[in-house]
Amino acid sequence: MRTCIFLSGFFTLCLLLSACERNEPQPGSAAIVTDARLVNADAEPHNWLNHGRTYNEQRFSPLTQINDGNVAQLKLAWHLDLPTKRGLEATPLMADGRMYTTGTWSRVYAVDAASGEMLWEYDPQVPPQKGIDACCDVVNRGVALWRDRVYVGTLDGRLIALNAMSGTEVWSVQTTPSARRYTITGAPRVVNGKVLIGNGGAEFDARGYVTAYDAATGEQLWRFYTVPGDPSLPFENPILEQAATTWTGEWWQYGGGGTVWDAITYDPELNLVYLGVGNGTPWNRRVRSPGGGDNLFLASIVAVNADTGAYVWHYQTAPGDTWDFTATQHIMLADLELNGEARKVLMQAPKNGFFYVIDRTDGELLSAEPFVEVNWATHIDMRTGRPVETPNARYQDGEFASSPAAPGGHNWHPMAYHPGAGLVYIPAQDLPWVYKEVEQFEFSKVTTNTGLDPIIASMPEDPAIQEEISKLLKGYLLAWDPREQKARWTVELPIAWNGGALATAGNLVFQGTSHGEFIAYTADTGARLWAHDAQTAVLAGPVTYQVDGKQYVAVMAGYGTAFGIESGIVAKWAGVRALNRIVAYTLDGTAELPPLAPLPEPPLPPAHRADAQTVALGKLRYHQYCSRCHGDASISAGVLPDLRHLDADTHALWDAIVRGGARFDQGMPGFAAHLEQTDTDAIHAYVIKRAHDPEYMPAKQEPRK
Ligand code: CA
Repeated sequence: MRTCIFLSGFFTLCLLLSACERNEPQPGSAAIVTDARLVNADAEPHNWLNHGRTYNEQRFSPLTQINDGNVAQLKLAWHLDLPTKRGLEATPLMADGRMYTTGTWSRVYAVDAASGEMLWEYDPQVPPQKGIDACCDVVNRGVALWRDRVYVGTLDGRLIALNAMSGTEVWSVQTTPSARRYTITGAPRVVNGKVLIGNGGAEFDARGYVTAYDAATGEQLWRFYTVPGDPSLPFENPILEQAATTWTGEWWQYGGGGTVWDAITYDPELNLVYLGVGNGTPWNRRVRSPGGGDNLFLASIVAVNADTGAYVWHYQTAPGDTWDFTATQHIMLADLELNGEARKVLMQAPKNGFFYVIDRTDGELLSAEPFVEVNWATHIDMRTGRPVETPNARYQDGEFASSPAAPGGHNWHPMAYHPGAGLVYIPAQDLPWVYKEVEQFEFSKVTTNTGLDPIIASMPEDPAIQEEISKLLKGYLLAWDPREQKARWTVELPIAWNGGALATAGNLVFQGTSHGEFIAYTADTGARLWAHDAQTAVLAGPVTYQVDGKQYVAVMAGYGTAFGIESGIVAKWAGVRALNRIVAYTLDGTAELPPLAPLPEPPLPPAHRADAQTVALGKLRYHQYCSRCHGDASISAGVLPDLRHLDADTHALWDAIVRGGARFDQGMPGFAAHLEQTDTDAIHAYVIKRAHDPEYMPAKQEPRK
């Protein structure tokens, strides 16, 4: 609207206003992102209008100015440093010279895409206590554009429409029940004038769903629940009544899970939306659904009608999930020739380690093969479409060391597809874990509800065992041939949890790493051609665009995210600082990053005097209540405070902070309702003891000073 109002003359104004009501491109109003532009985004290679550039979410750009012949000369064009820390996961969008992206705590930024100048920023003021409801850091994966608006989902469950020119709020709706522990970290998608948004919280008490809102007004149009509710109440639709027959016990008491926290992919040709559905609440099926059952639609891809949200088909990747094997990962559409036949497929590499090619018209499984080390199933039975599980994969007879495990063979980091090379680039990893059932499950309103022993997946303190484990943990960029279902090439990286991928017609693949490099490879052979040190992890999906005839490659850089805050020593191997910045590169760039100031020496810890019993209680409580943010085994990778290295004032205020909430404003809530002083004293004793333990650091990656 705003673009119209700027034009002078009464008749012009009226004509343009009426034209704006129809979703058509307006001459001279380049900032209006119409439905037609979103559908035809491939015809605008200079822009990046949708989350995966085009609706097929291939993250492939036809731009060739930067190519395999000249990428070695790629230089930093600009960097925009943000005054925040913690994880950055957003894919920036770029429309007509303006970049729109998100940072920590659901903040939105509009940036001049050529200069890096901040045009406006919007802080939705998410309450600090919401931080502990985020399983995996206070991250956000980006915005959606439509007309003259920018849409963001916030950590506290709001969907907000902003004016793209000014960053001022147009409308805001609460999409989740505020009293529950739902969050939003995923990017909204705009489909035919509707904004689609999912949510997260399946580690806590959520029942997953996706909602469509009128993009113009915020009015709710449809909602699709991914799991059935209390069967004594009316079901929202007939498919949920059918789904309820695959559940047992009283799953609805915990929410059930099945949140759609990332992949929502629209298919304009079939008018379907494919939803990637997450794990159950709690993870352990024997707690959640004690009589067994597939627990639909957990860990499934569900196709729904884009206009109505009505169920069309589903494919379940992990029936009766008990490992946190979400199928929320990137869903990518392509038309592939398979056995001489043209097939409309979707492709996904979910956490469970199998790469799936599925007919997206009807959900028929076409092929599935392991893309990483897999030991929980031998293969997918193509007759039934179900995994064939190995003995004790469900840890029913004691501990099971599973590959993959909850971090996934592939997580949220977007893949990319190069249609010419015929390859899908997967940020893949081996991060095995030990699963063991908790002795007595108690539903928690403040910690995670996994139904697992809270300490079992923690890194053992014995350096010799750590050395053995460190050899099993791997990260790599995998160029996967989806027709042949095999790797064409693989680049092994220093540690796991590396960045999203971008493919270009310049025969290039770009990927960031957790150890801070942003790297370009040839798309066909995986030859490393160029790298830049971003001084912090580069985990998000990169984009490329063109302004005034010049091609840029840009990406969000920052440490944190689930891995960076939770993984303790394994996260520290990255050896990077917890900075937040946007970096953009061109062939003629002249910018440079400022040198890093040396880190101050950590304060010396108080004396360790506690007895072994107190330390053991502290270790248990630490891994129940603290490790998800402060790091496994009380080792922080520098994103949130390392409790081993606090100053004397903080030690003195320990109970006032941990139970009393004295650092509430910094996102540290008080746990008085959940912990006694004996618990917090024991946690204190444990972290002080850990401060006196030698810190194991294998020579995987030299820490950056
Ligand atoms: Ca999960």
